[in-house]
Amino acid sequence: MKQKRYISVILPLRLEWEPSYSLPDNIERIEVGERVKVKFANKEYTGVVSEVDIIPETDPKKIKPVISIEEGIGKIRSEEIDLWRAVADYYLCSIGEVYKAAYPQMKVNMEEARASAREKAAARKEKLTESIRQRIAKLEIRVEKRKEQLAKAKKESTREAAVKALDEAVKDLERAYEALNNITKGKDRINATEIIYKEIQLSPAQSKAYSDVKTGMAKGKPVMLNGVTGSGKTEIYMKLAQECLKKGRNVLYLVPEIALSRQLEDRLYEQFGDSLLTFHSGETAASRMNTTESIRESAVNKRNYILLGTRSALFLPHNHLGLVIVDEEHDNSYKQDSPAPRYNGRDTALMLHRIHDCAIILGSATPSLEEIYNCRFGKHHLVELKERFHGSEDADIEIIDTKAERKKNGMRGNFSIKLIGRIQQTLDDRGQVVILRSRRAWASAMQCSMCGEIVKCPHCNVSLSLHRGGRMLCHYCGWSAPYSGKCGRCAGELKNLGAGTQRIEEEAAALFPKARIARLDSDTAQNKRFEARTIRDFAKGEIDILIGTQIVTKGFDFSRLRLVAVVAADSLLGIQDFRADEKALHLLEQFRGRCGRREEKGLFVIQTSQPQHPVYQRIANNETTALNSSLLQERKDFNFPPYTRIIEINIKDNFEDRAERMSERLAADLRKSIVREGDTILDSPITGPYSPVVDKVADQHIRTIRLSLKKDRTLTSEKEKLRKAVNVFEKENRYDGHITINVDPS
Ligand code: ADP
Ligand code: ZN
Repeated sequence: MKQKRYISVILPLRLEWEPSYSLPDNIERIEVGERVKVKFANKEYTGVVSEVDIIPETDPKKIKPVISIEEGIGKIRSEEIDLWRAVADYYLCSIGEVYKAAYPQMKVNMEEARASAREKAAARKEKLTESIRQRIAKLEIRVEKRKEQLAKAKKESTREAAVKALDEAVKDLERAYEALNNITKGKDRINATEIIYKEIQLSPAQSKAYSDVKTGMAKGKPVMLNGVTGSGKTEIYMKLAQECLKKGRNVLYLVPEIALSRQLEDRLYEQFGDSLLTFHSGETAASRMNTTESIRESAVNKRNYILLGTRSALFLPHNHLGLVIVDEEHDNSYKQDSPAPRYNGRDTALMLHRIHDCAIILGSATPSLEEIYNCRFGKHHLVELKERFHGSEDADIEIIDTKAERKKNGMRGNFSIKLIGRIQQTLDDRGQVVILRSRRAWASAMQCSMCGEIVKCPHCNVSLSLHRGGRMLCHYCGWSAPYSGKCGRCAGELKNLGAGTQRIEEEAAALFPKARIARLDSDTAQNKRFEARTIRDFAKGEIDILIGTQIVTKGFDFSRLRLVAVVAADSLLGIQDFRADEKALHLLEQFRGRCGRREEKGLFVIQTSQPQHPVYQRIANNETTALNSSLLQERKDFNFPPYTRIIEINIKDNFEDRAERMSERLAADLRKSIVREGDTILDSPITGPYSPVVDKVADQHIRTIRLSLKKDRTLTSEKEKLRKAVNVFEKENRYDGHITINVDPS
């Protein structure tokens, strides 16, 4: 009888192990990465073969056979499985959870996929044809000019140079004709390397930074590019990407959110043509499927790609990766909080760089403290670019003290008369204005004027917001109810607290009746088309004042934007979180960077009731480096990241008393399991359980335990102890599904 063969399989489940299966006799050939149908706990799953010809640990009689091998779908690459493993180890989740995130069980309608692919290809072809035609027109003029120059050239040496210049121009033109010809002949995809779109000419400052970047990469180190907004970081990325593609290797270009990358996408498309692929959650499943396929095929047909995407793009079947770019590395939206894997895109990109042994560049105008730390300790290579390409300086800053203004009767609603004057002046000069207010809705809370009761969500421990049109809404669980204006307890009159974006929009409309005003926040962002149109209209100058939440602080490049203002800035500082000041600093600096990107200097107005707060003062005095240093020192003194690693263990339960009891018990268990030699219970790295700021969401009571670990060689074993202790606790107490572990919470 033939010897039975066994394999281990990764299943899309929260399993701590990879179960074994036997191969039916009729299957001769099987490889790691192939997908198989198997049964687990009486349900069928598509799993990934992780090892072949293993010696099973369980009784062979109990091992079930593989049902079938999935034919026709691509094999998972070993680099992908390596990444899943690295993510699972680091973020303390199961490899199955990572697999599930990388390959969600989406019902992909292939028909739809094909149709949408054809549509997209046609649109791109048209765009590409148009841009080549334009290029040809320019090149024809250039050839004519060169001919004239040749005719005029008298001396032998200038004649020679002129002949050469003409020759080059003619060659460029021929190449462009050929590209056009290829397209009309129906060759859909064209490698950017075949057409030289635009030679990227770096400024002297950029060239210096660029060669510094290359030095860091030559040492095999991740490079941190700290460049002010408008300094040309993107140009440097594109130059690096171009070089990488020329060498026949691929590029992954990560951005935190896609909303702000529309302009970037156009810019990259102009440079890279059809080598550009995109991948983000705003696309249809079909189009994402196509991108996945293109990437998988590129391993075979050697068509190079540059992929622009959000964090989930890390899990595509990347091959021959030469460069990873992490734009806006400081951005918190790189972190996924739910569901598992609770990973940070930036840190996972670093894992990917190690697995593929490729170059990586992280960029930001406001680097995270983590990156500042990494550069200080020589783990990453720091490159600075302080000069703006268009030469304009940072926007001036004006801090307006709302308390003082109120005393002087200098406020009109949420706008100070001073700010109103600034806005009016900007509008008169035909400039544009962006106003940031960090809360959406009309009012962010309601309070009874009789009994003082704050109106809360019946399912969450948060106050309800009032939205235009008279509905009260919970921003956590989505519960809503009509607004009666009366307190539910004593029927007293409700008053509104905290004006949100809708109210600011109304006030602005009343103050500037002639201005064209629009709003961007997560309410309007529900409608992606509307959002894209608003951004486009603003770019075209068809909107004068744009009001919005955090979203307006990021990424956009508008040439006529002269004034950015934040009303009620203090809500940015009030968060109970050790990162609050860092976040506020990033947000305000990013926002400031939006204006004055061109020749003209812009103005940044901050309305606050705490004008002396160090965050504002440091920004106003251009002392962000000093502020970063003092924040870093604070982190060191209080044992916070990046000096330590924080892991949050969250307990969620329908019953408050059980959440309380279980979290107490778990904390006690953890204190026992995670002790280091010589530690007393007092030095325990564990704090809590405590109630988070919002301790009830959608009827789930939440308690948090925090583990703070030293960053030394004990880190991995401590994390392993935590994982084991939590598993044991879940089993012993039959407390499955209530506990989540979040490594490096944002
Ligand atoms: P950052 O990414 O640092 O914010 P960008 O790369 O977007 O800066 O550059 C800001 C502006 O300056 C853009 O409009 C860009 O086209 C222009 N720019 C920067 N560097 C160059 C360059 N070397 N050649 C041409 N334009 C450039
Ligand atoms: Zn709620």
